[in-house]
Amino acid sequence: MQSFHPEKRLLMGPGPSDVHQRILDAMARPTLGHLDPDFQGLMEEIKTGLKDLFQTENSLTYPVSAPGSAGMETCFVNLVEEGDKVVVVKNGVFGERMRQNVLRSGGDPVMVEFDWGTAPDISAVEDVLKQNPDAKILAFVHAETSTGVCADAEALCALAQKYGCLSIVDAVTSLGGIPVRVDEWGVDAIYSGSQKCLSCTPGLSPVSFSEAALEKIRNRTSMVRSWFLDLSLVMDYWEGDGGRSYHHTAPVNALYGLHESLVMLFEEGLEATWERHRVSHDMLVSGLADMGLSMFVDEAVRLPQLNAVTIPDGVDEAAVRGRMLNDHGIEIGAGLGPLAGKIWRIGLMGNSARPESVDRCLSALEASMAAGHNS
Ligand SMILES: *Cc1c(COP(=O)(O)O)cnc(C)c1O
Repeated sequence: MQSFHPEKRLLMGPGPSDVHQRILDAMARPTLGHLDPDFQGLMEEIKTGLKDLFQTENSLTYPVSAPGSAGMETCFVNLVEEGDKVVVVKNGVFGERMRQNVLRSGGDPVMVEFDWGTAPDISAVEDVLKQNPDAKILAFVHAETSTGVCADAEALCALAQKYGCLSIVDAVTSLGGIPVRVDEWGVDAIYSGSQKCLSCTPGLSPVSFSEAALEKIRNRTSMVRSWFLDLSLVMDYWEGDGGRSYHHTAPVNALYGLHESLVMLFEEGLEATWERHRVSHDMLVSGLADMGLSMFVDEAVRLPQLNAVTIPDGVDEAAVRGRMLNDHGIEIGAGLGPLAGKIWRIGLMGNSARPESVDRCLSALEASMAAGHNS
């Protein structure tokens, strides 16, 4: 075997996004023991930074030591008990994963489905909540990465409260790219990922739980069906004042990376970060229009950080993506499920959301499409 030296790519797909050199440098610093007082100081700073990022006072706010899917599972296995009815909004890949999580947690999912590429209709969700007065939880995806659609998270959380449900929100792709206001919206459980708009390496999932969510967890009558993700056990590791007890070995260097990404985010400012995503998105959309390409999602519900581009008829979409990667070193994403072959997904997440990246991507796309016409 030999050491691995990957080519430098520009990551403009659905994640991971481009990781800034400062974050990679931070991750190369000396590994500390995970119960070392200096490391515990870092854990405290990460918790504080994540609270500011989620805009919450929730004391249980920390990064799960595993990717976004584990954050998702943490929310479901802890909040769903045997027989609990959970209304799940689905308008893409990740709503279906929520359904799978409800089933595996012993719950009873009630689906509200919308066409891929459209946003959840609030009154249709309300109808289902009305028809299911015994529902305990409303779960939905804020930023659907498979389509580039933004859900009205504020309105959906308000519905959950109106109908006596807790809310579970997937903010994997939204956090850091667009506003996420946990306390103002009344979110009860939320999870995100390190590798999308936070531009960190993959493998960590920031989560946050409200007091109402903790109350439901404390009143459980059955054991959480996962040992690793059981919050009552993890809490002593991330919360335990002074007497932190061993639960698992934290991914120490990965947490240096997340810490640095939070440092960079607050240096720039949250509002400025959102604005940079929006400006990059506007640049991309107008550049695509100049090339005769159009967006798949209605302007009103488009995410700036995940751009679904309609593939024109007669274009070999996989060949174009192949040329983007091999000739230009740029990764963009393919469509999933019913959108396979119909859209490209161009990510403008975190460090990838920069005018120079948009320019590179547009000229590479133009050249890659033209190369197809010539051959
Ligand atoms: C990427 C993503 C996930 C899963 O995150 P992983 O880190 O890949 O496990 C979940 N939900 C959404 C909306 C995502 O975009």
